[in-house]
Amino acid sequence: MLKMKGIGASNGIALAKALILKHEIIKTNTKKINEKEITAELKKLYAALDAAGDEIKQLIKNTTKTLGPEKAAVFDAHLLITTDPVLIEDTEKLIKEEKCNAANALENAANKSIATLQAMDDKYFRERAADVIDVRDRILRKLLNIKAIDLTAIKAATIIVSHDLTPSETSQLNPEFIKGFLCDVGGRTSHAAIMARSLGIPAVLGLKNVTSKVKNNQFCVLDGNTGEIEIDLNSNEKNKWIAKQKAWVEEQKSLLVFKGKLTKTNDNHEVKLEANIGSPKDMIKAIEYDAQGVGLFRSEFLYMESNDLPSEDIQFEEYKKVLSATKDKVVIRTLDIGGDKELSYLDLPKEMNPFLGYRAIRLCLDRKDIFKTQLRALLRASVFGKLAIMFPMIATVEEFKAAKAIYEICKKELIKEKVKISDDIQVGMMIEIPATAVNAETFAKYADFFSIGTNDLIQYSLAADRMSEKVSYLYQPYHPAILRLIKMTIDGGHKYHRPVAMCGEMAGDKIAVPLLVGLGLDEFSMSASSILETRKIISTLNKNEMERLATQALQCETNEEVKLLVAKMLKQK
Ligand code: PEP
Ligand code: MG
Repeated sequence: MLKMKGIGASNGIALAKALILKHEIIKTNTKKINEKEITAELKKLYAALDAAGDEIKQLIKNTTKTLGPEKAAVFDAHLLITTDPVLIEDTEKLIKEEKCNAANALENAANKSIATLQAMDDKYFRERAADVIDVRDRILRKLLNIKAIDLTAIKAATIIVSHDLTPSETSQLNPEFIKGFLCDVGGRTSHAAIMARSLGIPAVLGLKNVTSKVKNNQFCVLDGNTGEIEIDLNSNEKNKWIAKQKAWVEEQKSLLVFKGKLTKTNDNHEVKLEANIGSPKDMIKAIEYDAQGVGLFRSEFLYMESNDLPSEDIQFEEYKKVLSATKDKVVIRTLDIGGDKELSYLDLPKEMNPFLGYRAIRLCLDRKDIFKTQLRALLRASVFGKLAIMFPMIATVEEFKAAKAIYEICKKELIKEKVKISDDIQVGMMIEIPATAVNAETFAKYADFFSIGTNDLIQYSLAADRMSEKVSYLYQPYHPAILRLIKMTIDGGHKYHRPVAMCGEMAGDKIAVPLLVGLGLDEFSMSASSILETRKIISTLNKNEMERLATQALQCETNEEVKLLVAKMLKQK
């Protein structure tokens, strides 16, 4: 048996036989045609272009239905390539003048534009080369009569193993048969991870060389909660995992009794559990798991999934969808790009320390055009629900005031344009830079609410890159210094009666939750699938006891000491 560990990208345990997805290299022959065959080859070309176009149109339809229009948008670009005049003209020329056969001519013409795109400085154009490759192979398969791997034809429990999964492939995955997938590359925010969570398929990514370790039909197990995978198990090992999976499924079922309940400790102290979402589609899961609103809508995914800056109208429609889906509050965070989240079409400067550089609110305050478009869309959508707007990566009071001033300008503009906007919009900020946690009391004078972004707060406080494997031992959520920063934020916010939330991963962490209750956190925002379990944990806790536990934790010297302290308390329960 072989064990590997990657990044748990979508929760759940899957057991099934592996199917390795090889992306075949299609080769055409260079046989020349004669003058009389030109018309027939041109006909073949046009028919293949039409057939590929029809296939893509079907893909757009299916994807729109299963995953929503924003996930289908990538195929609109593919459709355009099938009618690209330059590609068609170049191919025709090769057939007519060089006497290439249709397949060889198409391959050469497409490769020319792929090479041009790949040589460009701009990352956006370099990435577009992958789209041309995808379409080139689709047309070639039509010309050469090669059948594509049809993932929709898989009708037995399967774990897909692939270097990466393209959008065309992920849109075909049927959760009834595709029990999970494993990829060499990718992380929690990669396209494949987002799709896996939307589809509810367990996945482990970033396994580096899993495609060379697994063989077709080998039995595999993956745990999307922990990132562990095991390959080629004997029956004993298999049974252990079957029991583990059964327990996980049973646990998920037992949590359903917490649906529709308030979130309260056993001495009636109430808090709120909200969902972190990345697109309006995620509201389905948020509602299924009984989220009490949305504590974080990472709006940057709207920008990352499109080929250009999304217009005010496009954004308005997306925000309206989320706001209309719930009566509860929806916190929409303004664009938080930079660091680990790139926007290729913005061509941002290369920096030595991108996490400390030109990103998020810093970029928005500089590119007011981008910021205003988003704020106007948000304000227009505000009448469809209970909107709260949150600014990311605020470091100084000046920044918050400047962002709020632009918000006020947008408001005035819209009122002048006679556009209806809600008169009850909260405007708050993320606390993810240590300086703002330390000075939370000052920020509380201006911000309507706080949401603690521990994913960044931890990396900045311990100077440990959240993406680096090598320093991951320093990424310590229970470090007493982190607990102190959280306490300062909560106390600072409460001094001005501001609600304090947390939307970093720590809010759904079993060890952290008792401490956060004790420190007085008001709202916990997490991935939807963790909500019911967290509600269950909180229902067993006593607020006064947790306050004492938190006081003890603050006196600890290390992350490990705090972890043991909480684990001991949980065991006693
Ligand atoms: C955070 O930093 O904790 C957070 C929620 O933001 P993101 O993970 O999107 O940086
Ligand atoms: Mg952050």
